[in-house]
Amino acid sequence: MKTNDYIEMEEKYGAHNYHPLDVVIEKAEGVWVYDVDGKKYLDCLSAYSAVNQGHVHPRILAAMIEQAKKVTLTSRAFRNDQLPLFYKELAEFTGYEMSIPMNSGAEAVETAVKLARKWAYTVKRIPRHQAEIITATGNFHGRTTTVISFSTEPHYRDDFGPFTPGFVTVPYGDAEAVAKAITPNTAAVMLEPIQGEAGVVIPPAGYLKKVAEICKKNNVLLIADEIQTGLCRTGKTFASQHEGVRPDMVTIGKALSGGFYPISAVLADSALMNLFTPGEHGSTFGGNPLAAAIGRAALAVLRDEKLAERSAELGAYFLEQLQEIPSKHVKEVRGRGLFIGLELKPEAGGARRFCVELQKRGILAKETHDNVIRFAPPLVIDKDTIDWAVSIIRTVLQMD
Ligand SMILES: *Cc1c(COP(=O)(O)O)cnc(C)c1O
Repeated sequence: MKTNDYIEMEEKYGAHNYHPLDVVIEKAEGVWVYDVDGKKYLDCLSAYSAVNQGHVHPRILAAMIEQAKKVTLTSRAFRNDQLPLFYKELAEFTGYEMSIPMNSGAEAVETAVKLARKWAYTVKRIPRHQAEIITATGNFHGRTTTVISFSTEPHYRDDFGPFTPGFVTVPYGDAEAVAKAITPNTAAVMLEPIQGEAGVVIPPAGYLKKVAEICKKNNVLLIADEIQTGLCRTGKTFASQHEGVRPDMVTIGKALSGGFYPISAVLADSALMNLFTPGEHGSTFGGNPLAAAIGRAALAVLRDEKLAERSAELGAYFLEQLQEIPSKHVKEVRGRGLFIGLELKPEAGGARRFCVELQKRGILAKETHDNVIRFAPPLVIDKDTIDWAVSIIRTVLQMD
């Protein structure tokens, strides 16, 4: 079968809930992916930062194969010998005392919402079923019905109501707006430290720190959604650390498996996490031994290959190189570590056409919204590859 045969088959039998570039990938290694015609591309999306460790990392692969031969799923009705080690190593890696494992990112967010509500009723003593959670405009926290209830993207919501109540929206980047929105019923504020899906939107300096102070003063939990920004992507373990903030809860996912398996989690200290009692929350696959073994290896790679430092160093270099490209199309290039958004001017004709040109020349990048191209390669990229990528990106940005 050729590229077009795969695409036709996919379009005929599969739901059309994505608009992918027309590249059909059959294998990958490190920062490179290969299509069915044998063409090689630099992956500048990293599956939305799920493959921070690089594609098919040998150490994670070995852990997966070894565990898959032993036992993959016990359900949480029984214990398994991988989950305790995963919990402990996750605590050591993140600095949070406890965690709860889930599968997808959206499930981690749902879990954080439930835990915040439980805290609201049992600790803060908010009248039952009246807890409010403050969220920000432009947020992306996933696609379940509760999570889209606080999306501000009409396209994600319009045809999918009725929505889950209990969410309040304030403008992203405005700490005063958070302060104003707090009521006696506010349980939590939930934010992305940098908004990835909104187009790598970096809030004003001091924003998260200020929000954290406001939360503390008002006895409100701070939840950071670090599913995309966490696990070394922005040059630190968590993007919140750029402002010295330690949220009460952190949601993680994506790179928690290095791209091998859907694994997510919520991190919190014991005072909060111990509010969950048996039966209140769970997942058949959450915390299974295969996931736990993969997660352990994925964390070990982030740690042993010093991928946070690597992201900080190479990200600064990549950003500087991109900022130096003279182009009439570019409005702004911004980033933190290897998490970079290149925003085009409205008159540039949209980011999609540039992504298509990049693809022709061997770089896979995806537009986010209409005018931003995200550059977020696996963190194992090297300087020579960045130099090569910049030369291609320069050519494309200098087209008419
Ligand atoms: C990707 C993402 C999610 C959702 O994760 P899924 O695994 O797709 O459910 C939630 N929050 C943020 C910030 C994300 O980037």
